[in-house]
Amino acid sequence: MILTMSSNLKKYFIITYGCQMNLHESEKIAGILSSMGYQSTNNENDADVIVFNTCCIRENAEDRAEGNIGALKKLKRTNKDLIIAVGGCMTQQKGQAEELKSKFPFIDIIFGTHNLEDFKSLFLQKISGKKKIIAVEEKEGPVKEGTPTTRTSFPNAWVNITYGCNNFCTYCIVPYVRGRERSRKMQDVINECKQLIKDGYKEITLLGQNVNSYGNDIDDENTNFANLITEISKLDGNFRLRFMTNHPKDFNLPLIKAISSSSKVCKSVHLPVQAGSNRILKLMNRRYTREDYLEKVKTLREYIPDIAITTDIMVGFPTETEEDFNDTVDLVNRVGFSGAFTFIYSRRSGTPAATMDGQIDEEVSKKRIMKLIDLQNSINREQSKEYLNKTIEILCEGYDEKKGAYLGRDTYGRMAYFTSPVDIVGQFVSVKIIKTGGISLIGEIVNDK
Ligand code: SF4
Repeated sequence: MILTMSSNLKKYFIITYGCQMNLHESEKIAGILSSMGYQSTNNENDADVIVFNTCCIRENAEDRAEGNIGALKKLKRTNKDLIIAVGGCMTQQKGQAEELKSKFPFIDIIFGTHNLEDFKSLFLQKISGKKKIIAVEEKEGPVKEGTPTTRTSFPNAWVNITYGCNNFCTYCIVPYVRGRERSRKMQDVINECKQLIKDGYKEITLLGQNVNSYGNDIDDENTNFANLITEISKLDGNFRLRFMTNHPKDFNLPLIKAISSSSKVCKSVHLPVQAGSNRILKLMNRRYTREDYLEKVKTLREYIPDIAITTDIMVGFPTETEEDFNDTVDLVNRVGFSGAFTFIYSRRSGTPAATMDGQIDEEVSKKRIMKLIDLQNSINREQSKEYLNKTIEILCEGYDEKKGAYLGRDTYGRMAYFTSPVDIVGQFVSVKIIKTGGISLIGEIVNDK
């Protein structure tokens, strides 16, 4: 249904919080609105529709979303036709839709994570005159294919392979708001990748809460993650393959072999450890020990000696002692991560950890995280020095206006900045590193490929 013609196209503005999964889902919301004749805008004052795609993994993500939704009250007053929709993980939490409705009565559509594919029909109901729409399905349905997508991250393309999570780490709200794990059919994923390569995308990132358990819910032993990346790697074309995120308990030898035997799979693995203390890992219900984790890292490096390993680490989990934290510091030193996303534990209502005794004082957590960040930065500075004077293959991802330089990553995920007289976004280029700092590198193009 085309709502308006060329010069007077209606516009949408989407605000996304949280992870890559949400970024990709916003691309689907954009795809649905584009298929109805709407056009994207970067200015909320110009928008006819504003969509918030929210996150609830940490309290501050929710606070930020609520602050920004609240700030729209004025805009809605001056533009009565403006449609405001709120979706994503935040709305899927028990009782949250009703709370949002009473806190922000000017919201027009509230939709849950299991209702994303219904967004078109919800939106049509709204524009046909329905006053307020709340659609938050409690339970996940089967995987739906064919949702239109307006991609925003060229030359990278996100591709979902699983939805939901079965792991129930005790601090995490995701299994409650995303439902049980469902895998897409292998052929559907491969077909999507094939089309993306044909469309000119140069990097594909497979997405799932735990990509390593891909296929566990499908009754076919060939449908597993190692086979999936092997099959995608066989597709014709010059492209890279990445994936996230992995769960150490399911990260296995067939997968390590599949990564090592494909030149298209990037030599970079995100393997969230969360903590280095066995006592804390058990309380987190992570189902591996620090020894298991270190053993997997060792095997990974036996097969792929230059693999870059990045991780997520949480500090301040209930009852975490100085000794537990020192175990985490020790593990970070032993592994030598190429990057670490560090977080302070955030109490999420409805999760088992929220009611655990021994919640940690914020000041203690802040000190711990600072120590960890300093440690990781010093590891990265040392690793960066090894890049000096080396020539690396970079996929140019974009242009940084502030730095006045193009940027892109190598196979290990390391970011480099460089200049070029012509637009080279989406091209593989050889860059010689002439300066190193913290995690990013500065180089110059030596020859275009
Ligand atoms: S694996 Fe654990 S941390 Fe990751 S989404 Fe599932 S429950 Fe959350």
